[in-house]
Amino acid sequence: MEQKRFIFFGAHPDDPDILFGGTACHLVRAGHAVKFVSVTNGDSGHYSMEQKELAAARALEAQNSAKVLGIDEYEIFPLHDGELEPTVENRKRIIRCIREFQPDVVITHRTCDYHPDHRATAQLVLDSAYMISVPRCCPETPICDKIPVFAYSFDRFVNPRPQRADAAVEIDSVIDQKVAAMSNHRTQFYEWLPWGDGDRDFDVNKLNEEERKLHVMKWNQRFRIAANNGREVLKSVYGEEMGSKVVYAETFEQSDYSRQLPPEEFARLFLP
Ligand SMILES: [Zn+2]
Repeated sequence: MEQKRFIFFGAHPDDPDILFGGTACHLVRAGHAVKFVSVTNGDSGHYSMEQKELAAARALEAQNSAKVLGIDEYEIFPLHDGELEPTVENRKRIIRCIREFQPDVVITHRTCDYHPDHRATAQLVLDSAYMISVPRCCPETPICDKIPVFAYSFDRFVNPRPQRADAAVEIDSVIDQKVAAMSNHRTQFYEWLPWGDGDRDFDVNKLNEEERKLHVMKWNQRFRIAANNGREVLKSVYGEEMGSKVVYAETFEQSDYSRQLPPEEFARLFLP
């Protein structure tokens, strides 16, 4: 088997886990290489922790998640949460990162997303899609031998149009590992996100293990929608019977800013 290399650029430490955690689990088990990048350090995602303290806590959470998933690396760029801009400097950071990892596949958010950091991350990654092949851009880091394919992860935004499920990966069989990885981001799933949703009295200490799992599963419910959107692809890659039974799936859209794969090939790109 030829090893494939995947790099996921999310805006915050927990985005790669939420959007790619299940697929990453399958890929790593099969011997492929996976790297997660958080383009900001996540230092705004809390209601009480001071920024430096939060950035340090989230770095540790990311490393713990990486261990659970068995991925190669979970890199966090030293950029402030909530302030990311698609600058040339940041673009160069992404270009170097892609060239150094030499991926076959680069995945990120779409540019139509509610969070300014998600949009900026998507913009930075897309702005790198062509520039990674230009030797005179960041000349100190040589261009890659192979040109990667770029893809977008699932989201629920419908303007200007919903995400297209060009590829879909069932995550039912790895959902426990995905939830275990996500659960490491305690400051998020057990503190900031419930607080942000208005649940100001949420206290994780009152939940038993099963309840904690169910709590984190809330952030996986979107992948039921993804599975339904990607039903035809699921049937085509897993067969009619299994494909129709998948409950949770992570779906991916091929970006037209990069090298293009034929649809049948892209549909299988994320499968172990
Ligand atoms: Zn985020």
